[in-house]
Amino acid sequence: IDPTQYIRQIIRNVPDWPKPGVTFRDITPVLQDPRSFRVLIDLFVYRYMGQKLDLVAGVDARGFIVGSVLAYELNLGFVPVRKKGKLPFNTVAEEYSLEYGNASVEMHTDSVRPGQRVLLIDDLIATGGTLLAAARLLQRLGANVVEAAAIIDLPELGGSKAVTDSGLSVYTVCS
Ligand code: 5GP
Repeated sequence: IDPTQYIRQIIRNVPDWPKPGVTFRDITPVLQDPRSFRVLIDLFVYRYMGQKLDLVAGVDARGFIVGSVLAYELNLGFVPVRKKGKLPFNTVAEEYSLEYGNASVEMHTDSVRPGQRVLLIDDLIATGGTLLAAARLLQRLGANVVEAAAIIDLPELGGSKAVTDSGLSVYTVCS
């Protein structure tokens, strides 16, 4: 079986969560199953080894899980892109809009040095708002965002297109 298909079939669709009418793509079974966890990380390793990256930036919270393992495998550092109010040192923030209201992501001001080549990673792209805000944050810190990656794309929500239209390269394992 094809590795992408293997992962796709293990992702669990949870109807009506977090609210009626929404189907949540749950990646916890992919992490729980040792074979799909390894295949998932290996797909990212295969894509990014030799890309002369400096850092992996993972988005709170599922982006931490895949991002930190990937960074370790590629011998890179890991930096967190966190939800508002979680980081203890000096921070920069970027806001993005949700269906109702706003949210923001934060990074430590010293988490990236200008010119560093950074891979940005999260578990899923829906509207793209989260990854776009994270990319703006990294760019404000002077990073060269080499690619924005995720496990799952929901193309019907237009997020991967929006991220691509902003000038960023996008990679997702499956949709
Ligand atoms: P966006 O900003 O692209 O609209 O939403 C993506 C963010 O929301 C990601 O951080 C992702 O973790 C979370 N998210 C939204 N919908 C889902 C879903 O169905 N499954 C998972 N695993 N995460 C989701």
